[in-house]
Amino acid sequence: MANGGPAPGGPAIAVLGSANMDLVAYVPVAPRRGETMTGRDFRTVPGGKGTNQAIAAALAGGRVTMIGAVGDDAFGPRLRDALAGCSVDTAGLRTVPGPSGTAHIVVDDEGGNSIVVVPGANATVTALTPGDERRIAAAGALLLQLELPMAGVLAGAEAAGAHGVPTLLTPAPAVPLPDGLLARTDVLLPNEHEAAALTGHRDPHRAGRALLDAVPEVVITLGAAGSLYFARGAEPVTVPAAPVRAVDTTAAGDTFAGALAVARGEGRPMAAALAWATAAAALSVQHTGATSSMPARAEIDTAAR
Ligand code: ATP
Repeated sequence: MANGGPAPGGPAIAVLGSANMDLVAYVPVAPRRGETMTGRDFRTVPGGKGTNQAIAAALAGGRVTMIGAVGDDAFGPRLRDALAGCSVDTAGLRTVPGPSGTAHIVVDDEGGNSIVVVPGANATVTALTPGDERRIAAAGALLLQLELPMAGVLAGAEAAGAHGVPTLLTPAPAVPLPDGLLARTDVLLPNEHEAAALTGHRDPHRAGRALLDAVPEVVITLGAAGSLYFARGAEPVTVPAAPVRAVDTTAAGDTFAGALAVARGEGRPMAAALAWATAAAALSVQHTGATSSMPARAEIDTAAR
């Protein structure tokens, strides 16, 4: 598939993040340690939090450019094609010697998942090229996650800060953060477990208030319970999720982040942007896979009405 370049119109969004091939096994219940079981299905689906957020944002109507790395194995071109096929610009996605990132995912019958990520090529993204920095400078927002080396993530946040580009950080997987990263984050998007890991508070209200010391805006996602929005100087806002039948919650948070970046990039007020991102995420959990489950803009508009 040829790279079609960024889609016309829509807010410009840069994503600095991982590209992984998701190797997904579907099982009735997740295996315990030492247990071997027979799965009912297996799929390979392009993923990684960076790729997921890039595709989610592009489907939601953003003009998206992806910065990261794939390997020179068979997965590399598939990952690049998956992004390009959704009109994500992949000029900033380098190909490096060695394996692409892989994620080994087990999905159970209740839609829950457990995941092992092997970074592969993603581990080489420890600094920005001048081209990467230009891509970030030209964007209206930068989406970051933590599946790249911390030095690379920090370099992206610093470049965004230097060019006045707002950053939305999904702090997943939950790892200790260097001081400078939160200071350069405009919107932090943890799920409740990540919020607890960052603050030591299991109660998301307490965690959210604590995180506001470091970041001006925080959205804690709560799965089927929706999300909680915190901004300095304002009361927390609860954003309920629509009751839907979840079959696979993989990448619900990434769908949420991509759609939220687009809605904010369009200048929508935060309450409306959150409602729209919530509708997008609720659509994604009703289908299997990561990028394969993400809704297009028209579907989000219909669901959000
Ligand atoms: P993942 O790691 O699977 O991408 P996450 O843990 O980062 O997900 P969640 O908090 O599980 O993120 O979900 C993100 C958002 O998706 C929620 O805030 C909610 O709006 C929506 N969502 C998740 N699960 C459901 C569900 N079962 N029904 C409706 N909406 C859901």
